[in-house]
Amino acid sequence: MNQVTTDIEAHLAVTGTAVRRQPEGIRRTVAGGAARGAQAYLELAESRYAEALASMDAATIVEFPNTAYYLPVIHSITGHKVEKLEDMRWVLDKAAAMIPAAPAEKLWLPYLGATLDAGMAALWLAEIIEALKYVGIGVPAVQGFWLGAADDVIMRARGVEFVDGSAPGFAAVTGGAPDVETAVALAREMQQKSLYVFIAGQSRGHTFAGQLHEGGIEMGWETRLVPFSPEIFGHVYSIGFAVRAAMAFGGVKPGDYKGILRYNKDRVFAFVLALGEVDDLKYAAAAGAINFGFPTIAETDIPQILPTGICTYEHVVSNVPCVDIVAKAIEVRGLKIVVTEVPVPVAYGPAFEGERIRKEDLYVEMAGPKAAGAELTVMLDSAEVEDGRVTVVGPEIDEVEPGSTIPFGVLIEVSGRKMQKDFEPILERQLHHFLNEAEGYLHVGQRDIIWERIAKKAVDAGFRFEHVGKIVHARYHSDFGGILDKVQVTIYTREPEVSDLVARAQSLYRERDERIGSLTDEAVDTFYSCTLCQSFAPNHVCVITPERSGLCGAYNWLDGKAAYEINPTGPNQPLFKGYTVDDAKGQWAGINTFVYNSSHNYIERVNAYSIMEDPMTSCGCFEAITAILPMCNGVMTVDRDHPGMTPSGMKFSTLAGSVGGGVQTPGFMGHSKRFMSSKKFLYADGGIARLAWMPKKLKEEMRELLVAAAEAAGYPDLFDKIATEDVGVEEEVVMNYLAEVGHPALELDPLF
Ligand code: SF4
Ligand code: ZN
Repeated sequence: MNQVTTDIEAHLAVTGTAVRRQPEGIRRTVAGGAARGAQAYLELAESRYAEALASMDAATIVEFPNTAYYLPVIHSITGHKVEKLEDMRWVLDKAAAMIPAAPAEKLWLPYLGATLDAGMAALWLAEIIEALKYVGIGVPAVQGFWLGAADDVIMRARGVEFVDGSAPGFAAVTGGAPDVETAVALAREMQQKSLYVFIAGQSRGHTFAGQLHEGGIEMGWETRLVPFSPEIFGHVYSIGFAVRAAMAFGGVKPGDYKGILRYNKDRVFAFVLALGEVDDLKYAAAAGAINFGFPTIAETDIPQILPTGICTYEHVVSNVPCVDIVAKAIEVRGLKIVVTEVPVPVAYGPAFEGERIRKEDLYVEMAGPKAAGAELTVMLDSAEVEDGRVTVVGPEIDEVEPGSTIPFGVLIEVSGRKMQKDFEPILERQLHHFLNEAEGYLHVGQRDIIWERIAKKAVDAGFRFEHVGKIVHARYHSDFGGILDKVQVTIYTREPEVSDLVARAQSLYRERDERIGSLTDEAVDTFYSCTLCQSFAPNHVCVITPERSGLCGAYNWLDGKAAYEINPTGPNQPLFKGYTVDDAKGQWAGINTFVYNSSHNYIERVNAYSIMEDPMTSCGCFEAITAILPMCNGVMTVDRDHPGMTPSGMKFSTLAGSVGGGVQTPGFMGHSKRFMSSKKFLYADGGIARLAWMPKKLKEEMRELLVAAAEAAGYPDLFDKIATEDVGVEEEVVMNYLAEVGHPALELDPLF
C-alpha cells in the first residue's frame, strides 16, 4: 500500500505536525482504539458487501446522488473510481491492508503513522457502508430529518461561503449532548459563530440532531445545522464535503493525496466535537479526521494527543466541558471568527438567514403582495445626517394587531467622504442579508418588491421595528465603514408615508438603472479584479468589467469599485487596461500583466470575450457554465440548479469538475447568469446567436434579459429557437431541431 504511507515521517511532512513522545500507555490507547475500530468497520463493510452481492449484480451502479466525484473520499485520496458494486472490492482489500494490528500494551512503536492509516481505512470503509445504503443495504441514508449525502449543487453553493469567509469552518459533532438544553445551547453558539455543524453518530442513547429536533430547532443546510446520519459512519460525508471542496475549488487532482490533505489542513477549518462516550468506532473516525488536520475535542476523559513545538495544534484534547467546548475547538483549530455586535434582543448571524417563518409563528407581515413597501438608501451631505438616529413613523410593533399585514418603508440616509452615489444600490442590496440574519426575521426581495415577516418569538424577546434601524446602522458601519461616516434610518409603518416613499424610490431606481445600464467596457479605462476565491482556488482571478460581472454573479464592476474604496488593500483592485491587444477578443496588456502576476505566473493571457481562445479561468463558484456543442456550431449554457443531463454529454456537476480550479479550458467557461445577456457574451465567437440549448427553468428565468439581448444583436426571434430539455438532451436531436427552426448558429462561421 503506497497511496497512504505508514511512514510517520511522510505524515509529518504532509500535516506539518509532530507527535510528543508521551507516556506510552496514553497514545497507545488511541492507537489501539483506532485499530480495533477500523477492524470493526472492515467486518461490517465486508458483510454488507457480501449481502449486496448475494442479492444484486456485481455491475450494479453504486453512487451518491448527483456528484461528479464518485465516492469522494476514496476517489480523492486514491484516484480510484467506485462506479459499480464490484469496484468496492479493491477498496476493501486496500483498507484491510492498512489496518494495523492493535498494539501490544508493552511494546513501544511510533503509533501515530499506523493510527492515521487505520483512520484513513475507516473513512473509506465508512464511505462503502454509506454508499451501500443507497442500494438498499443497511438502514436508509435519507430518513426523517436525516439528510445523507450532500450533492454537488449543495457542495458548490455552500463551498462558496467557505471561500468568501462567510462560513469560517465546520464542526463535526459526534454523539448526543447531556440533555436537550445543552444541545440547543451548543447549536445556537455555533450558529452565532457562523459555523456549519455536521451531525452524525450517537452517545448516551441520543443523537445530537434528535435532541435539536426535540428542542424545536430547525435543521437543514439553510440553517447550517446538517444532520447527516444517526450512525457514526455518516461523518464520512463531512470529509466528503471537504475533499470535494479541494477538487472543485482548489483544482487538486483526484489521487494527489498529499495535495488533498494539505489543502484541507491549510484551508478548511474544521474540527470534531466528540460528545459523550468515545468507543472504538469513534476513535477510528477521529483518527480519520486527524489525517486531514481536523482535531478532535472531546467532552469526556479520553487520551490526548498533544503537540510539540513545531506543530500548529493539538490532535485530541479531552475533558472539555460542554460550556467551553466550542471556544476550545476554535482556539485549537485556529479559526478566525468575526462577530459583528448588533444591538438586538434576538440571536444574530448568517446561520439564521435561511430560517423560515410559518404562518402560525408569524406576528406581523410587512409589504409583500398585500401592502405597499420599499427600501431606499440615499446619500446626503454630512450636516443632514445624524449618526445612529432611528425614527419610527407610524405604529411600533406592539401597537399593531398580531397577525396583520402592514405597509412598510425603510429609508436609509448616509454620508461619508468616500461615499458615492453609485454605491447607494450596493449598500441597499445588503439589507437582505443584514435583516435576515436576525433570528425570527424574514426578508424577501428588494427595492419596491420587498416582503418581510417577524416571528412571534422575536417580538416576545423584545424585537421592535426600531431594531430594523439598529441592525442597518450597525452593519453599515461594520461592513462599509471605509466609505461611510454617518447613518440614520427612518422606518415607515403607515400610509400615506409608505406610498410617498415608494413613489420617490421608484423614480430614483429608474435613474440608477439608466446610469448603470449604459456603462460599457469601452467607456472606462479601469476594470476591477477579484481574487477573493484564491483562498480556495489559488490561481484564479476574476476580471470584472462593466459588461462582465464576476462569475459568481455577486460582484459587478460597481461592486468592485466600491469594495476597493472600502478596503484599498483587499481582493478587489483597480486594473488599468493598458494598450489593447485585441478589441474583439477583449484582451488588454495591462490585464494580462495583472492576471499573470496574481495567478502566480500560471495564466499568461485572457480574452474576456472568447470561449474558444484563452478564456477566463473559473474557480468553482460560477452560476452557470457554457460549453461548445460542435455539431450544432453553437454552445449550451447550464446553471448550477439543473441536475439533469445536457447535450454536451455531461451534467452540470461533471462539467464543473472539468472547468473549475483556476484553469483555462477552451470551449468551456464558467460565468454569472447575467453575463448571458451581455453584448460581450461570446463577443469574439459570434455572440448570443451561438446559444443553442439551455435548461427550461433557466431560460424562463432569463427570458426578459435574453429577449432584449437577442433583439439588440439583430435576432428578434432567437429566444424561441433556443432548445431545452423538452427538445432533447442529445446533441444530434438538438442539431436537428436547430435546422428545423432555422437557428442562426447554423449560419455562423464554423467554431473551429
Ligand atoms: Fe470569486 Fe470571482 Fe466571485 Fe470574486 S467575483 S468571489 S473571485 S467568483
Ligand atoms: Zn469562486
